[in-house]
Order: sequence, then C-alpha cells, then structure tokens
Amino acid sequence: MQKVNSTPVSELGEFGLIEELTKGIKILNPETIFGVGDDAAVLDYQDKKILVTTDLLVEGIHFNLIYTPLKHLGYKSVVVNLSDICAMNGIPKQVTVSIAISSKFSVEALTEFYDGVKFACKKYNVDLIGGDTSSSLTGFLISVTAIGEAGENDIVYRGGAKPTDLICVSGNLGGAYMGLQLLEREKNIFTENPGVQPDLSGYDYILERQLKPEPRLDIIESLKVAGIKPTAMIDISDGLSSELIHICKNSQIGCRIYSERIPIDVTTCEMAKEFNMAAETAALNGGEDYELLFTVSIKDYEKVKSIKDVSIIGNVTDITDGLNLVSPDGNLIQITAQGWNAIK
Ligand code: ADP
Ligand code: MG
Repeated sequence: MQKVNSTPVSELGEFGLIEELTKGIKILNPETIFGVGDDAAVLDYQDKKILVTTDLLVEGIHFNLIYTPLKHLGYKSVVVNLSDICAMNGIPKQVTVSIAISSKFSVEALTEFYDGVKFACKKYNVDLIGGDTSSSLTGFLISVTAIGEAGENDIVYRGGAKPTDLICVSGNLGGAYMGLQLLEREKNIFTENPGVQPDLSGYDYILERQLKPEPRLDIIESLKVAGIKPTAMIDISDGLSSELIHICKNSQIGCRIYSERIPIDVTTCEMAKEFNMAAETAALNGGEDYELLFTVSIKDYEKVKSIKDVSIIGNVTDITDGLNLVSPDGNLIQITAQGWNAIK
C-alpha cells in the first residue's frame, strides 16, 4: 500500500494534514457560501428542502484494504452517500468527510484516498465542505455526510407505492457481489500461496461494480425529463430483496416480481456459474450495486418503458398478497431478506 514516498502523518500534524488533504478545492455550487476552513461551513438553499444522509465505513467490516485501492475507497465513500440523496429524488450538493486513521497510513496514502474523494466530488458536481480528522487504534474509519436539495413536491419517500404501480430497477444487479466474491477468492489463494499472482483478467466489469460504483443521478435526470415522479424509491445497497421489503413495509403493500425480468449482466452470470451459484441469488441477496429501485404509476408505463437502462420487473399488489418472486415456471416464491447486514 505504501509506496516509495512515505511521510509519517506526525510530520505534518493534524492541521498540516487537513491542509494537505483539502488543498485545491474549488467551490462548485452557488449553495455553498463557505466550505473548509472555519468552525462550520455555510450553505444557502433559499426555498429548497434540504436532504441530509450519512454513512460510516469501518475497515474490516465494510472494506478490506488488502484488495481495495485507496483511491477507489475514497471515491466509493462519497458515491454511496450521493446514491442516498439520489434515492430521495434529490440532487447532491455538498459532502463532509471525516476520517480516523491508524499509524500505518502515510500522508501519501491519505492523499491517494482524498484523490478519490475529490474525483467523485468533481464528477458529480459536489463540494467537499468539511470534515474531521482523528487517529484510530483499531483501523481506518470513514464517515461521510452528504447534503442535497429537492423541491418539496419532488421528494420521493419509501412509503408512497400503491397497488398496481410498476416496480422498476435501473442498471443490472448482482455484479458488485460477484466482484466481491472474486476478490475474496483471489485474496484467499494469495494468502495460502503468496507466490501466486491474482487472476482477475476478463472480469473488469464486476470488479468495477464492486470497487467503483456510481450513483444513478442520470436516472433521476431521465425520470425528470420523461415527466415521471416515482411513487416510492430506494437505492439498492443491501440487495433487491431487502430493499423491496423496505418499500413494501413503508408503503403497506405487497409485490410480485418476475425472476426472468431481473436485469443481470453476462459477466455476473459467468462468475456466478464459476461459483456454482445462481446469479439471481446474487441479484436478490448481494449488495452494493447502488442501482435505484422505484415504483411508478401504471399510467406512466409508456414513458418508463422508453427510458434507457430501466427494467420493469413486476408490480405492486395488495399487502395481503405478500411479497412474491415469480419463477420462470410460474411458481410463487416468498421474498425474504437475506441481504448484507453490518450488525451481525
Ligand atoms: P475543529 O477544531 O473546529 O473541529 P478542525 O481543525 O477539525 O476544526 O477543522 C478545520 C477545518 O477543516 C474545518 O472546516 C473542517 O470541516 C475541515 N476538516 C477537518 N478535517 C477534515 C477532513 N478530513 N476532510 C475535509 N475537511 C476537514
Ligand atoms: Mg475537528
């Protein structure tokens, strides 16, 4: 992890480190009046509603530094929060990034992490407006808070789905999970035979899905352009089953999704075959795809059908029907949550 240059953090001290990590930041949004450099940032949202979301990432629980490049980790730490703003049908505007670091990190390693943070901010037009810096005795901790905006009537909650609504997902599912399985497999091989180089060729797509997810701001935009406001929405961080359960519970509805309609990439299918598992299981129970799961009124069928990269996978039913997956031969299978859970 640490390259030729390895400056101990103690050489810069806390304030020197903060300055090093946050240098070169240019404010991108007019809503950001003041960012890094005082006791608090100053924002101006005028008549918009403000969305706030936060995520804590813990070394050994949420990420493994053995196979996670620090730049990717910085990028992903920001992106997973932007995805939550997206899932409210909002536009992310600012983030704060707080870190607790163990002594194994050099200034160069942290700069790499921040390169990823800054890259995500630039790509998604978000201002890094502050954070906090501490040391840690137990590994690397990252806490990111994202702030975004939405018009009062544009906000989409998990609780608005109604029977007959269509259930839709963006992109494809299960790739991030299969990417993780591949990384874990190669890590284990390497631990047992340190001489063996990992064989990750041909699987760039699922590795990218795991290491470098993207928030689907493009889908939020496409829905807006099509004149559709989803009735309910959530981002898929813990697997399709788990997120469907959240929407159904909050909206007091049931659902029926069709297994053949769940979008899965061919690379995900191939990797699943290698692992002797059904790709559908990865889509339903794997996590971290950061796609959007949403419901729209049946009236919007024609409009939603024509949006690129959106699949209609089923429909909302009455709560008494429960949550069902329809298999290719027409059998109903009850959907239960087996998604990833950080609290074990
Ligand atoms: P305080 O003592 O008030 O907590 P700090 O010295 O921690 O202030 O922070 C000074 C400025 O640097 C603040 O604007 C803070 O938000 C920002 N900051 C501190 N740590 C980080 C970090 N890891 N990433 C981004 N900004 C940071
Ligand atoms: Mg501080």
